[in-house]
Amino acid sequence: MIPKSHPRYESLLLREKMVEASKEGILADSALIAHGRGEAFDYLLGERTTFPAKRAMYATVASMLLANNPVISVNGNTTALAIDDIIKLAEVLDAKIEINLFYRTDERVEKIAEMYKERGWENILGTNDDELKYIKNIENPRASASKTGIYNADVVLVPLEDGDRAEILSKTGKTIIAIDLNPLSRTAIKSDITIVDNVVRAIPFMCKIAEDLKEQDKEFLVNIKNDFDNKDNLKESLEQFKVKG
Ligand code: ATP
Ligand code: MG
Repeated sequence: MIPKSHPRYESLLLREKMVEASKEGILADSALIAHGRGEAFDYLLGERTTFPAKRAMYATVASMLLANNPVISVNGNTTALAIDDIIKLAEVLDAKIEINLFYRTDERVEKIAEMYKERGWENILGTNDDELKYIKNIENPRASASKTGIYNADVVLVPLEDGDRAEILSKTGKTIIAIDLNPLSRTAIKSDITIVDNVVRAIPFMCKIAEDLKEQDKEFLVNIKNDFDNKDNLKESLEQFKVKG
């Protein structure tokens, strides 16, 4: 048991969750390392949701509400950390959820799909039964996507995406939205909207924003979307890391 008074309490709880998920077999071997990289950035950020992150989240929710076919892409890490909030967000945004694994194995896809189904989310895409196609005919496992999901999506939210795949996706003309604590990663740079925040804070925050923006008219959403500039916002996100001794 981690005492609540521990200065790294929240972070250690997440670490325990990840260790559990790893034992259950839903994570790739490198997943804990990716998590550790995220932890380090979050530490330097002060483990808080910054103003530029919030601005990117408003642009995200507006874009997803305006989309014809919005999809949330999930992997083992995002599922382990935020499955309940991901389902809530998909519900409120009327979005699809698709499994995409960097090191895809049938077993892990099955296990992750089962977790969504157990929670009542039956229509999980990207499974072994689903029809997978190659984006832009790039015959690379990193370019595979579900036909009714990401392949035909106009807006895709990719928490913790890998840079290679973000690059492939960015060439499709779809709006690509990343959640990545590292504002210097290829994923962060290649995306159209980059939320520099921890998925465990960003996903529930976006559920709240979505409840609010759902009540607004289309013009209001279009303005939020058009006013957003990812280059400027990424620069501001990076400035949030100014570390004071
Ligand atoms: P890229 O492939 O985009 O150049 P990378 O190779 O440096 O990035 P990966 O190992 O592919 O990074 O992916 C892990 C990324 O996810 C890291 O940038 C890390 O900061 C980020 N990350 C890890 N955990 C979280 C989290 N809980 N919330 C948000 N971002 C996270
Ligand atoms: Mg990478």
